[in-house]
Formats: sequence, structure tokens, C-alpha cells
Amino acid sequence: MDKQQEYVLRSIEEHDIRFIRLWFTDVLGFLKSVAIAPAELESAFAEGIGFDGSAIQGLSRVSEADMLARPDPSTFQILPWRGDHRGTARMFCDILTPDGQPAAADPRNVLKRALAKASDAGFSYYTHPEIEFYLFHEPATPQGPLVPIDDAGYFDHVARGTGHDFRRAAIGLLESMGISVEYSHHEGGPGQNEIDLRYADALSTADNIMTFRTIVKEVALTQGIMASFMPKPLSGEPGSGMHTHLSLFEGDTNAFYEAGREYELSTTARKFIAGLLRHSAEITAVTNQFVNSYKRLWGGGEAPSYVCWGHNNRSALIRVPMYKPGKGQSARVEYRALDSSANPYLAYALLLAAGLKGIQGDYELPEEAEDNVWNLSDAERRALGIAPLPNNLQDALEIMGSSELVAETLGESVFEFFLRNKRREWEEYQAQVTPYEISKFLRAL
Ligand code: GLN
Ligand code: MG
Ligand code: MG
Ligand code: MG
Repeated sequence: MDKQQEYVLRSIEEHDIRFIRLWFTDVLGFLKSVAIAPAELESAFAEGIGFDGSAIQGLSRVSEADMLARPDPSTFQILPWRGDHRGTARMFCDILTPDGQPAAADPRNVLKRALAKASDAGFSYYTHPEIEFYLFHEPATPQGPLVPIDDAGYFDHVARGTGHDFRRAAIGLLESMGISVEYSHHEGGPGQNEIDLRYADALSTADNIMTFRTIVKEVALTQGIMASFMPKPLSGEPGSGMHTHLSLFEGDTNAFYEAGREYELSTTARKFIAGLLRHSAEITAVTNQFVNSYKRLWGGGEAPSYVCWGHNNRSALIRVPMYKPGKGQSARVEYRALDSSANPYLAYALLLAAGLKGIQGDYELPEEAEDNVWNLSDAERRALGIAPLPNNLQDALEIMGSSELVAETLGESVFEFFLRNKRREWEEYQAQVTPYEISKFLRAL
């Protein structure tokens, strides 16, 4: 047993932990959990805990159903909302095949493979997300109208607002689990909030996002409200994005920074942005994975619809944020298409792969977009070489289906499962006659 595993066993004894939840995610990014007793932990570390992989979306086929979940001791944390006494802790797991090999379809493993490629090229990869979500009153019936908890807007201070109590409680729980929060505020829509996590290596960030979603749901329950990460819950209001800031480091040095260049952006950063731009349409089905995601992308509210980059241009897909002079270590690029429902492991793996491709393939960075690209005409955008992101899930899947970059990064089983699962979602969605159509056409036609 290694040092970290020993530390976990000791902590469990010291804190009188009664249950250890083993967490992992399916291919779509839904959290899975199995609780074990402390006595099972040694063998869980050694061999993993068996489960039926075929019952988990995308993890394995029925014919190769047996899978093992092996906890990663570096992710051990006590779940603060389960109480101090005889409490509960959790660890994220790596999924293994019965012969102990990393399972190709485990999203955490997909990200680890992408990180290993970056590391071969001399880079480590850091991310920090700005996570937006809505808070609603619990509707009386599941079909009941959605009523946001307040009527406030961007950065509004709501006196005695539920949102303050909510953010304070959520941030308290996040910090007690070792997840640092940088900013939190009311967002543009009624009842919409944003919490920004401090940057960390991409694997920790992805784990942190999964924890974040759980905590936000838990806090909402204790406050008698409902939290949702749905990309576009209200048609006339902004959607919920998960803009993510990305940077590469070479050792202790930020590889995106170069003093004296325009926006202090190094050649590495320029090529990385060029890679993101060139492959953005191919990865959109993963960064924006639900039919509803496209209502956000094409529904205004500052979500990006066109493939371009800019310095502090909030209509651009990629924004190069300003940072304080001399703070080269915080050089980064912000990718703004991601929404709050994405599987962070897969999405971060693809963003990294696209950026690395730009570096390794020596891509040239196109001109930046200086205008608000939503206000340009189609012809003007075409003249500037600015293409749209996919319009809907079906278009996104079609482009993804012929992407070598995505197939290679996700690996064959995730790639195929994802396309199959999402094509089915599109067909199901297409088969619906919506309330919109009934109200518009039933009597008029
Ligand atoms: N809600 C917007 C989006 O969906 C972002 C708004 C903002 O952070 N300025 O991307
Ligand atoms: Mg923000
Ligand atoms: Mg925001
Ligand atoms: Mg942002």
C-alpha cells in the first residue's frame, strides 16, 4: 500500500467514517456512486470493486460487462453535508477491465490519455471554469411553470436574497472539500448564478466540477429550491455556460505568455488558439451535448455562435482575457462554447487535443474579430472568414462523425457510443410535437 492509501485509511479511522462513496462518471458525465464499508477499502485499493459496466451508459458492452472501480486516494474528501459523526467520504475512481487495464471508455481515462500526450510534448494543462446555473422554486407539479427564485440580473445585489444564502452555503461546502472558489455573483437571468473555481490541473478541475454539481443540488434541496445546469431552461433568458479558461505550463512557466508580443501571447498560445478554432465545430457535440445546448448557443444572451477569437470580445468563441501587467503566469485563453451540462472529462480532453494539434501542426492564427460578430451580416462574416458553430445537435454529430481528432482522442468505444446515443436523442426530439407548434398552428391551420 502506498503513502496516500495509508493516509486515507488513517483519516477514515480518525474521523470515524462509516461509508466511503466511490464516484465515477458515465460517458455523458452523470455521476455514479457506490458506497463501501471501511473494511472493504484495502481490497478496493488493491483490486478495485466489481460492478456491471453494461448497466452504465457507454462504459462497456453486455458481453464484457464486468468492470472494476479503483479509488484514487489523492481525491479522498469527507462529504461535509453528511455530518461530522460517523460520516461519509468519497473518492473518484479509475475504471479497470477485469484484467486490471484502464478501461478505454472511462471518461477519466480519456482525459488522462490526453494529458499524457500533452506531457510527452512537455506541457501540463490547467483549467478553470465559470459555472452558471439557475435556481428555481420547486414547482408544485413536474410540469408546473418554472419560477426563478428572484428577478435580479448581472452582478445585482439582492437584499436578503435567497441567492446570497445559497452561494454562501455552497461555497462553504466546496471549500471544506478543498475546492477553492474565486468569484461568485448573480448572473444575467432571473435566479441565475455563477460560481468560478480557482484554476487547477485539468483532471482535478473535472473532478471538482462533478463535486460542484453535487453540492449545488444538495444545497438547493436543503433550501427547498431546485438547481439546474440545463443549458437553456428559459427561452427568453440567457443560457447557462461553463466558459473555461485554459493554459499550458512548461515546468513552472506559463507557455502562453511572452513579454512584448501583442496581448503578451506567445507563439505557443497563438497556435493553440488556432487549433481550438479550426477544430471547434468537430468538438461541439461534446462541449454542447444535448438538444437543448443549441438553444443556448443560438439564443443570444452572450453565448457564442461564431468561430472567432478576440481580445476581450464577448461575442467571440475564444476570448483572450486581460490580466494585470506583469502577471504573466495568469496568461490564458477562455473557451466560451462549453455549457454547464458537458461531461468535463471529455470536453477538456478534446479542447486540449485541438489546441495541441494547432501547436504540433503549426497552425496559423487568423485575424482577431474586433466587432461584435452578432451584428455583422452573413456576407460580412463570410468575408472575414468567420464560420458559424453547428446549428443543432444533428449537425454537430455529423461534423463530429468525420473528425479524426475526436475519434482518436475519445477512443473508438466512447466515440461510437456517443454518436449512437446522441443520434437517438436527436431522433426522439425530432419526433415530438411541441407546445409551440400546437399553440401556433392547431387553430390557425
Ligand atoms: N450566460 C452566458 C453564456 O451562456 C455568459 C454570460 C457571461 O458570463 N457574460 O455563455
Ligand atoms: Mg464570469
Ligand atoms: Mg458568466
Ligand atoms: Mg467568461
